[in-house]
Amino acid sequence: MMDTLIVNIGQLLTMEGDGPVKGEQMKTLPLMEQAAIGIKDGRVAWIGSNEETKTISAKHIIDAEGKLVTPGLVDPHTHLVFAGSREHELPLKQQGVPYLEILKRGGGILSTVRATRAASEEELYEKARVHLDRMLSYGVTTVEAKSGYGLDEETEWKQLRVAKRLHQTHPVEVVSTFLGAHAIPTEHQNHPDDFLQQMVDFMDVIKQEQLAEFADIFCETGVFTVEQSRLFLQKAKEKGFAVKIHADEIDSLGGTELAVEVGAVSADHLVGASSAGIHQLAHSNTIAVLLPGTSFYLGKGKYANARQMIDEGAAVALATDFNPGSSPTENLQFIMTLAALYLRMTSEEIWHAVTVNAAYAVNRGQDAGRIMIGRKADIVLWDAPNYMYVPYHYGINHVRMVLKEGKVVSERGKGDVSVS
Ligand SMILES: [Zn+2]
Repeated sequence: MMDTLIVNIGQLLTMEGDGPVKGEQMKTLPLMEQAAIGIKDGRVAWIGSNEETKTISAKHIIDAEGKLVTPGLVDPHTHLVFAGSREHELPLKQQGVPYLEILKRGGGILSTVRATRAASEEELYEKARVHLDRMLSYGVTTVEAKSGYGLDEETEWKQLRVAKRLHQTHPVEVVSTFLGAHAIPTEHQNHPDDFLQQMVDFMDVIKQEQLAEFADIFCETGVFTVEQSRLFLQKAKEKGFAVKIHADEIDSLGGTELAVEVGAVSADHLVGASSAGIHQLAHSNTIAVLLPGTSFYLGKGKYANARQMIDEGAAVALATDFNPGSSPTENLQFIMTLAALYLRMTSEEIWHAVTVNAAYAVNRGQDAGRIMIGRKADIVLWDAPNYMYVPYHYGINHVRMVLKEGKVVSERGKGDVSVS
């Protein structure tokens, strides 16, 4: 007796396989037609043809109406917890005011830092919960959340506590990353090394309280150099953190090469990655996390070279980079469309990038991103006839229902969305 049986699945993306999916392998999607799934105790207990379900009993039956069913999506790069918003910067961007000038006028990331420092833990939690509800309604069942809008111990700690509480109370699994080295705070502008050391020391507290499993740094011109980033990431590894890096987002500094050198789980952004860096990445175990929403929103027409990455054999993942400045969207489906148009990724590659590879980018490859017997039943039912339809029909939400560990946690009625 199954707890739940999902019947009448027109197209089922099982993503069945082993390990991250690299290069050429991303071109083939493991899928079944006219399929069904049995769920027991929150896990996938049976997968077969729709025909066979006649002989299987279950407490609940969900009819997929002949449409698409996939694993829950994984968003492996977000800045989920912050206060305030930055809509007043949009006219300045339109007028061509450079980002550094916006910063000088008190805007940009430092305005988010001010707002986040001033907010209570409860306020941060309530705001992040609303964003997380929206992500879930778009089909995301696992999300990575970075700190990095505190840039002091007290506020970084507050952000990480909020992420941990969300993980415990919300249906979406939240994987926490310490990004204390996101920017240099105003009070440390003239001594960035002291600030970095302060953040390195603070990692002991984070480890002790189990507030994050990853550490991350923004390696970029005007923020942290490759040398500073190497030191920070090495220290993080010594303290038992897995590491990620904001690498070569704008300039080609060598952040991609550094990610490979330190054995980072993921290297993120990579718009300015050098050809040699991409080559190294493709021959490593580091996942390339691409964020085309950020390139789109910056409006400069410069996107990461996903084609070279995949053609040379890299495992590519996609994320929203949800944040109040450069990518204010929770909609990973829209990111899939951007990947199709501007990263020239095929639909098959895109689905690998938002499921399996995204799961590996947050060290959840063994549990998320695939529908296989024994795994958590994190499953999305789509109001779409096939997988190619989702990136094609853009800007809207195609999700009909989301199951997290076998339970229906988000369901769309006619014209409304309810999230439990
Ligand atoms: Zn980021």
